[in-house]
This record gives sequence, C-alpha cells and structure tokens, in this order.
Amino acid sequence: MGENQSKLLRDNSKLKKLINECSFCGKKGYKPGILETAHGEYGAGLTVKKYFEELALNNSGVCKACEFILAKNSK
Ligand SMILES: [Zn+2]
Repeated sequence: MGENQSKLLRDNSKLKKLINECSFCGKKGYKPGILETAHGEYGAGLTVKKYFEELALNNSGVCKACEFILAKNSK
C-alpha cells in the first residue's frame, strides 16, 4: 500500500468506512457503489477515488484476485 493511502486513512478516520481491505493480501480499495451513496458527500468520495481503486470482496472478505488464487490452490 502506498504511503499516501496510509497517511490518508490515518488522518481521516471517516474514510475508513468507505474502504474495503482484503483479508488475504491486505489490498485496500473503495467499496463498490460507495460513490453513488450518501458517503460520497463531503468530498470523501472524490478523495477515495483519487487514491484508491474499486475493490470488491466476497463473503469471506477476500478480493477477486485472491479468490481466484485460493480456488486454484484448493484443487
Ligand atoms: Zn486479496
């Protein structure tokens, strides 16, 4: 994770609830659809969009890339 992203989350705790973190690789990204909700107000949506990519997690809290790797390894 970039230093800018770490600093951003340290300085602005409100942004944390907009962010998903993969429980396997630790990658962070904004929650899908979050920018279209009320959370996108106050400029927070623009900020997360600038520093993060969208990151979808499955029910286990794992991103798509890791889900793919884990599925492959379990065969
Ligand atoms: Zn991951």
